Amino acid sequence: MTRRAITRRDFLASSAAVAASAAPMPRPAIAQAEPHVVVVGGGFAGASVARALKQLDRRIPVTLVEASRAFTACPFSNGVIAGMRDLSAQQFSYEKVVADGVVLAPGTANLVDAQARSLIVGDGVRLRYDRLVLAPGIDIRWDALPGYDEAAAERMPHAWKAGEQTLLLRRQLEAMEDGGLVVISAPANPFRCPPGPYERASLIAHYPKTKKPRSKLIVLDAKDAFSKQRLFQNAWKELYPGLLEWVSLSSGGKVTAVEPATNALVTDFGRHQAKVANVIPPQKAGRIAELAGVADRTGWCPIDPVTFESKLVPNIHVVGDATIAGGMPKSAFTANAQAKVCAAAVAKLLRGEAPAEPKLINTCYSLVAPDYGIHVAGVYRPVNGVLTEVEGSGGVSKADAPREVRAIEATFADSWFKTITSEVFG
Ligand SMILES: Cc1cc2nc3c(=O)[nH]c(=O)nc-3n(C[C@H](O)[C@H](O)[C@H](O)COP(=O)(O)OP(=O)(O)OC[C@H]3O[C@@H](n4cnc5c(N)ncnc54)[C@H](O)[C@@H]3O)c2cc1C
Repeated sequence: MTRRAITRRDFLASSAAVAASAAPMPRPAIAQAEPHVVVVGGGFAGASVARALKQLDRRIPVTLVEASRAFTACPFSNGVIAGMRDLSAQQFSYEKVVADGVVLAPGTANLVDAQARSLIVGDGVRLRYDRLVLAPGIDIRWDALPGYDEAAAERMPHAWKAGEQTLLLRRQLEAMEDGGLVVISAPANPFRCPPGPYERASLIAHYPKTKKPRSKLIVLDAKDAFSKQRLFQNAWKELYPGLLEWVSLSSGGKVTAVEPATNALVTDFGRHQAKVANVIPPQKAGRIAELAGVADRTGWCPIDPVTFESKLVPNIHVVGDATIAGGMPKSAFTANAQAKVCAAAVAKLLRGEAPAEPKLINTCYSLVAPDYGIHVAGVYRPVNGVLTEVEGSGGVSKADAPREVRAIEATFADSWFKTITSEVFG
């Protein structure tokens, strides 16, 4: 990777990095010409906020704190699991973000002191901020599903954060004998990417259909309804008859425990012995949100839908999957849209101006097969403090569209991924 990773020394020296060591420090450590914005999390939301701020006003010093050296994108990672693409197609460097003038602070943000308006990165670098934007994505609720902990995830991967977990699930599918049973467990709402488990089921089914035709796939669901349900189920009948079965909550689909030693998933109605078990567990906002005090008892972060400022802690904004965003689903498209609104609001707030009321768009494409795409779209605006879908604004792909249209939608999905990743990282 060629990005310039700033060292601790650089970091302390960088003007606006406004940094000082964890040792007691006089505040502010360095006189700042402009108010400093720190963004935590360089994913679809955080990298977009950082870049958008620089594009709005290059004078605003912006520091991006990111735990990973490169970003690994979840959208299209189901294709990696199904052997349709390589993980490298999901990975992006921060080179261009830095080229825009954003100071990159590699490391994990571990602590936020909202009173002092500072945070600690890694082993003790302290950063001061005037406005902090948290965009940490999700964390797994390791205490929510009996039997499922970090060790269990090595046997029964979630693959809900792209990277090693994605490759682990792919390797397990590759190693499975023809005739094996794949079980996916899907969580209750809310969770990252509502159509994601069903796209994954589809693409995994496509893999045995073409390579291991005697295998079977079951989706055990903690819900009775899901995103683009009719479109998915129609496509499953057409493409994967007898191969893919969906078990709803009311039919006993909720997984109540897992047994990693035997690869079994337990429901109130019995045990499912899987050859490959993909457990998508309950989730919450990334841990730093809780540490900063911006997550509520649900584990997610309530925000003002005009500024994305936390409803719990002033001067901290939250964007992306970590938020409670009313009707907006947790998607990369949403994260990017929220980021632009948040950046515009932060720039205005720093100038003492009032942010404008936003309208935000989301579109989620899913692949049911490599040449079979479907979508759902919506427009959202704040209504009584909640992001609400504008009546009549959205919709889903037509139920009776011919296969040529599905094939065109698959190309739209591909173009969307290329466009968003080049906007955020390119
Ligand atoms: C299988 C799958 C398929 C999907 N498909 C689609 C799709 O087709 N379309 C779509 O729109 N969305 C899709 N999504 C959803 C999409 O991936 C997420 O909604 C999106 O990534 C959310 O962006 P984010 O910035 O909030 O979080 P992320 O993209 O996860 O970014 C969070 C970043 O914060 C960093 N971080 C976290 N905590 C800290 C910390 N304390 N210090 C420093 N860095 C930190 C992480 O390293 C990470 O880089 C899919 C998701 C999955 C799992």
